[in-house]
Amino acid sequence: MAVDASLIEADANKQNSTPKEDWDASQIDPTDAPRAVREYLETLDEADFGAASEVQPKFTSHSDPASQWTAARKGPAFFGYSDNYLIDTDHGVIVDVEATRSIRQAEVGSTRTMLERVKAKFDLHPERLIAETAYGTGPMLGWLVDRKIAPHIPVFDKSGRNDGTWTRADFEWDAENNQYICPEGQTLKQFRRNYSDSNRGPTGEGVAKYRGLKNICQACPSKARCFPNMDFRSITREEHEDAGQVARDIAKTDQYVISMKLRKKVEMLFAHLKRVLGLGRLRLRGPCGANDEFLLAATAQNLRKLAKIFPAPQQPRKA
Ligand code: SF4
Repeated sequence: MAVDASLIEADANKQNSTPKEDWDASQIDPTDAPRAVREYLETLDEADFGAASEVQPKFTSHSDPASQWTAARKGPAFFGYSDNYLIDTDHGVIVDVEATRSIRQAEVGSTRTMLERVKAKFDLHPERLIAETAYGTGPMLGWLVDRKIAPHIPVFDKSGRNDGTWTRADFEWDAENNQYICPEGQTLKQFRRNYSDSNRGPTGEGVAKYRGLKNICQACPSKARCFPNMDFRSITREEHEDAGQVARDIAKTDQYVISMKLRKKVEMLFAHLKRVLGLGRLRLRGPCGANDEFLLAATAQNLRKLAKIFPAPQQPRKA
């Protein structure tokens, strides 16, 4: 299976919106609010919507407050929802759809919802999941590997450096001895520490830190390439780093190359949705409105696909 999200414009305009400094959801009276506004209030604690991020959007629409103010298309910003597709890559059939707020946390989170739903509803359990880098976060990869779904996903790795010094990938992981081996053959051992700042760890539970010995690192001929600004070299290992390694190993296989081509099938479905079915802007408002429209559009796409896979038997012409 493959997963991806596409941004669809909501039926909302900036003229009818409030900047974040002035927006206060607690002032809204739900008994007197239209359906889309009531749905916004009802989904404030849901992971796909309000709870997806603590960051307040720059503007909130009055007519459809659950829609996200976004400039993700690198053009002028607008209000939109994300249409998330989970597809079967053998045939390009959409197996699940979910509307979310247009931010990555919500889109990635919806993948879990869809995978759990197709398992419960159709007993479908993919051997592998194909997705782009945004889905390659530690917690997501860990979640997939725990469920025996091979992540054909580039790892979202923030440990990269752009100053030419060695990155974590240049150090060999020695799982048996719980240590890293540096390019000079020295060991970096772990010391644990629970960060009080939950943002420092991928799940709020902290990260493991491995460090070289100060006297060895200070005398090392590769010091300049390893740690120009410190007394010794240290490397952090996130909680789901094992799952990250699984994904990195998969990325070296021939099947992965095929998977990256198969990923285009989701993009083609979104292109078809917008260009052929003309779903560039939603007509219905609120999370339920977006979900209904996305579901109906996906159903239309599947019917077209199924008609091609299983063409109707030809009727013999009457003489
Ligand atoms: S500086 Fe330390 S960690 Fe880096 S290569 Fe040299 S010995 Fe290894």
